[in-house]
Amino acid sequence: METCIFCKIAAGEIPSSKVYEDGEMLIFKDIAPIAKVHLLCVPKEHFAYLSELNGAREALLGRMMAKIASLAPSLGLEDGYRLVINQGESAGQTVHHLHIHILGGETLKWE
Ligand code: 5GP
Ligand code: ZN
Repeated sequence: METCIFCKIAAGEIPSSKVYEDGEMLIFKDIAPIAKVHLLCVPKEHFAYLSELNGAREALLGRMMAKIASLAPSLGLEDGYRLVINQGESAGQTVHHLHIHILGGETLKWE
């Protein structure tokens, strides 16, 4: 998608602080962190919503979760972390390219 900011980040057209990249996903620092550690894990393929999952995307999402778990200790998340996927306007989704927020590095409130 030409206009999608996360597609541009994935293509290297917009700079980001990457912490992990392979052929199918990217993990980079959120530009406006809401926790001491705030990363975003995005698939390189553009799709916006979980409602658009198919078999291949389901498997990819599984690999993204597994990658987050395996990298967590090296990302300052050894004491735990929270994953958030905002879906739609009411949830506050502002970038319509599926992404997993990775939050941690401190004790997170649950209100
Ligand atoms: P959403 O509200 O859609 O779940 O989350 C979008 C996230 O993307 C926000 O936390 C926002 O700070 C982050 N974000 C938006 N634009 C950029 C950008 O250009 N670079 C980076 N690194 N993060 C961005
Ligand atoms: Zn995109």
